[in-house]
Amino acid sequence: MHFTGRTWRPPYEANTPIIQATSGCTYQNCRFCSLFKDEPFRMSPMEEFEADLAEIKRYQPYARRLFWTGASPFAMSYDNLKLRALTVRDYLIKCQSMAMFASIRDIKGKEVWQLKKLRAMGINGLSIGTESGSDKTLSLANKGYTAADIAEQCRKLDEAGIEYYFVYMTGLAGKGGGYRNAVESAELFSQLNPYFISVDSLTLFPDTELFAMAQRGEFTPAGERERIEELQTFISHLQIRTHLLANSVSNYYPVTANLPYDREKVLSELQYVLDTKSEAEMLAFRTGLKSLGQDTQENGPHNGEKTAVRQSKKKLRDQER
Ligand code: SF4
Repeated sequence: MHFTGRTWRPPYEANTPIIQATSGCTYQNCRFCSLFKDEPFRMSPMEEFEADLAEIKRYQPYARRLFWTGASPFAMSYDNLKLRALTVRDYLIKCQSMAMFASIRDIKGKEVWQLKKLRAMGINGLSIGTESGSDKTLSLANKGYTAADIAEQCRKLDEAGIEYYFVYMTGLAGKGGGYRNAVESAELFSQLNPYFISVDSLTLFPDTELFAMAQRGEFTPAGERERIEELQTFISHLQIRTHLLANSVSNYYPVTANLPYDREKVLSELQYVLDTKSEAEMLAFRTGLKSLGQDTQENGPHNGEKTAVRQSKKKLRDQER
């Protein structure tokens, strides 16, 4: 397999065969992210892509889903996506869906008719690192799009029937901004149809612009308690049926919920943490995180899941009860 540089996939695609369609990120300007800082964007040549498909075919000839790696595979042109999607079908005749990361910026350049055709060819399951639905936070993070852009582009996906997933990041609005960020994001996301929402929490790493801003006093990170309160507010204000996966390594206390059914249960779990843990205890966990890819290479570029930590923390919690 032709994997170069950092290879990421979201935790929920852990059982999906992966293939490198692109590597690196076309944007590289999000202020909290340094993941692909030293890795230029590259499209895998078709020869490499086909050779990898042939290899996957040898081991999993009946694979029904593929995950295309790289932060920006959906940045490829319609024709390039079409060629690759059709080529996948040449090798993996049972493959029904091809999932990947996509940015709102990458959807912008595609017409609804093109999205419909891509959907018909099997492209489905776009992980979109929205991080927030609040203009103030999107601007602070330098995401390169607005809440209105998110709404407009995701409505195109809805029209085309392409399933998509959002990422929400607590703490990104900085100290005192969590409540506003949660309410505005929940309001926007509630107008759309994310199949699930994955939640991470901001971890400031030294090689990011946001870290430099914090050093200069231009950004004050939210405390850990504020982040959990932010997550509670976000969950309280979401008015859609969706799955919430707040169980990545960056979340102090991992929770998952089938909303709206689990709303009260998960809110009270988070309240239990607020009632029993101190800010210092939670902060110690955050400062122990060394990198986005700590101990794992199968997470998304927006922080990831570390199963062992998640399970041990759950055990700890169960023991305390
Ligand atoms: S968060 Fe995603 S889009 Fe932003 S710079 Fe990092 S990899 Fe690129």
